[in-house]
Amino acid sequence: DGTYLRTQGFGQPGRWWVHIANGMTIKRAMARIVRDAGINTLDNVMAVKILTDNGKACGALGWNVRTGEFVLVRAKTVVSAQGRSATRGTDNSTHNPFNVWMYPYNTSAGVVLGYDVGAAVTELDTYQRATMLPKGYGCPGMNGINSSGAHEINALGERFMGKYDPMMDSGVRNNQIQGTFQEQMEGSGPPFYMDMRHVDKDVVHELQYVLMPGDKATFGDWADCTGTDFQHKLLEVEIGELIFGGTIAVNDTFETTVPNLFCGSIFLYCSGAMCGGYEAGRQAGMRAAGITEAGKINEDLAASVKKDVFAPMQVPADDGISYKEIEQATRNVMNYYMGFRRSMAGMARALEKIRFLSGQADRLHADTLRDLMRCHESRDILTVCELAIQATMERKETGRCVYKLRDYPELNPDMAKPLLLIRSEDGPRFQWGKAPLL
Ligand SMILES: Cc1cc2nc3c(=O)[nH]c(=O)nc-3n(C[C@H](O)[C@H](O)[C@H](O)COP(=O)(O)OP(=O)(O)OC[C@H]3O[C@@H](n4cnc5c(N)ncnc54)[C@H](O)[C@@H]3O)c2cc1C
Repeated sequence: DGTYLRTQGFGQPGRWWVHIANGMTIKRAMARIVRDAGINTLDNVMAVKILTDNGKACGALGWNVRTGEFVLVRAKTVVSAQGRSATRGTDNSTHNPFNVWMYPYNTSAGVVLGYDVGAAVTELDTYQRATMLPKGYGCPGMNGINSSGAHEINALGERFMGKYDPMMDSGVRNNQIQGTFQEQMEGSGPPFYMDMRHVDKDVVHELQYVLMPGDKATFGDWADCTGTDFQHKLLEVEIGELIFGGTIAVNDTFETTVPNLFCGSIFLYCSGAMCGGYEAGRQAGMRAAGITEAGKINEDLAASVKKDVFAPMQVPADDGISYKEIEQATRNVMNYYMGFRRSMAGMARALEKIRFLSGQADRLHADTLRDLMRCHESRDILTVCELAIQATMERKETGRCVYKLRDYPELNPDMAKPLLLIRSEDGPRFQWGKAPLL
């Protein structure tokens, strides 16, 4: 009806969040606007490489995951907008990597393709996030639940968040995860619960019947099956999986360190994502208007990428490994060494094991195009995990992210800067501070 319902989000000082009913339809609405504007779109194409000519972005390669058609796009400018919250590098208690907080089909292609083409990437050391989830169901909603006055309680029936954040349950999300994890280590849980029984009934109704189905359309089915009732029962919750993501570093015009390559997936939430994506596109369009012709495509490179893309279909099943095996092994490594408590020695072991798994990636086998797509997602997951471990090992401190590092238990004020990773012959080169402006 043209009005807004606004609530206070995690750690925020006021009612900054705008609730969006049926949020999952936004993408389709936006797609309609784009098509109606007469813009050519290539649906179901998985981008696998950004192309450059003389160091400037000039197109991209991809393939259609339904038809297997290989696609070569020549362009004056390129915008990467493949999301920044990469999932499937760890899992939650369900061990189902698709039953998670964030979109399970974002597997860090933005970071991986950007890094591969030489763009500086950032936040791999700090953008490692988790949220509380309803136990066994990857539908978060905790921003709304916590900030509506819900209390988190442990197995002993105690409210404990006062120990971890001055704003208690509506404090910073990282503190809720850290606090719950600490309670768990001390044996005060599981189980953990969110208690909404005292909250105003209209608010609770909104949380269960509007907010949660907005986060996952099947929430109502799950709630029916489990007898979930926010108003009258405790909601059991768990610490969810960790996201290992990041983004391509940009300057104020959303351009990356590779000229003519822009990035639209910079912000974490809808408002920023929409404005940032729009502005990246606008800047790329303005730049393109001043370029007479798109750069030249390296045909040999395109042919070799095409061969690599379809290679898993040639690997014999009895000699190969499936994406499920390699992904599960990746998650085992990351869950074990890269959780909420870490050590430098543990991260070094994680790196060794992830590199071993990356060395097995040529053995990935696919029977179908769908499996082929998953094979490439698995490769991206391995790459982003490797980069995240390396970046985290550079950040010798505790306190700026959701994990604690035993070797460096204090916050280091010298590290209050972004860490950039730039590809070189011998792996990433690290640089503290902002990306150099073009
Ligand atoms: C359950 C849930 C609840 C949320 N709730 C809120 C909320 O209440 N308020 C809020 O502001 N934000 C919320 N968010 C966050 C918000 O949805 C994101 O911040 C926003 O969608 C990010 O936009 P983006 O365009 O950067 O990335 P995305 O929307 O993730 O888009 C990235 C796109 O890239 C595609 N892609 C990935 N890899 C490739 C590849 N190799 N080739 C081609 N395409 C590729 C993906 O399929 C996807 O369509 C929520 C997110 C989730 C998952």
